[in-house]
Amino acid sequence: MGELDPRHAVYAGSFDPLTLGHLDIIRRGAALFDKLTVGIGSNPDKRPLFSLEERESTARKVLAPLKNVEVKCFEGLTVNFVRACNSAVMLRGVRTLTDIETEFTMTLANRALDPAIETVFLMASEKYSHISSSLIKQIANLGRGNTAEQLKAFLPSELIEPLLIKFLVSEAPVSEAPSTV
Ligand code: ADP
Repeated sequence: MGELDPRHAVYAGSFDPLTLGHLDIIRRGAALFDKLTVGIGSNPDKRPLFSLEERESTARKVLAPLKNVEVKCFEGLTVNFVRACNSAVMLRGVRTLTDIETEFTMTLANRALDPAIETVFLMASEKYSHISSSLIKQIANLGRGNTAEQLKAFLPSELIEPLLIKFLVSEAPVSEAPSTV
């Protein structure tokens, strides 16, 4: 097996959608490591709002200015993906004490799976520690198209329209389709 690079980190997640909280961890990670791979996972247990391809292309757009950051999609265990990237570091962000509890268990499991890979945590910036992808989806869903301005505090601007469109589209068949019975 080849040497894993400790100057190359992988930041993996669902990124459904990528938030300003994720972006903050990516920027800070990219400043710490020579190279950062953002790994977009296709977890079969989750039903994502954005397809893998949509998440990949928007992440590429948002992250294009960061020259040492690349975007890749993966299936399966994150540790296997990190190893396939020849990286020795899994980067994670923690927001709350609850996050720490979950991350602690996950880190121990990952260490058992592949002891050569270290998990490195960055604490969320206080500005973004309340932000999660699921919260953003709730705001977009319940706000019903009037939330573009408010979403600027949570999401990269490139993602606001695609998010609002998702909820307009998903609403259409329910509210506008004529009854078939
Ligand atoms: P997952 O589906 O694996 O939870 P996410 O895309 O939600 O993936 O998150 C990926 C990583 O980013 C996780 O380490 C998570 O704790 C971290 N993260 C999520 N939101 C924030 C935030 N607002 N600030 C800092 N880190 C965050």
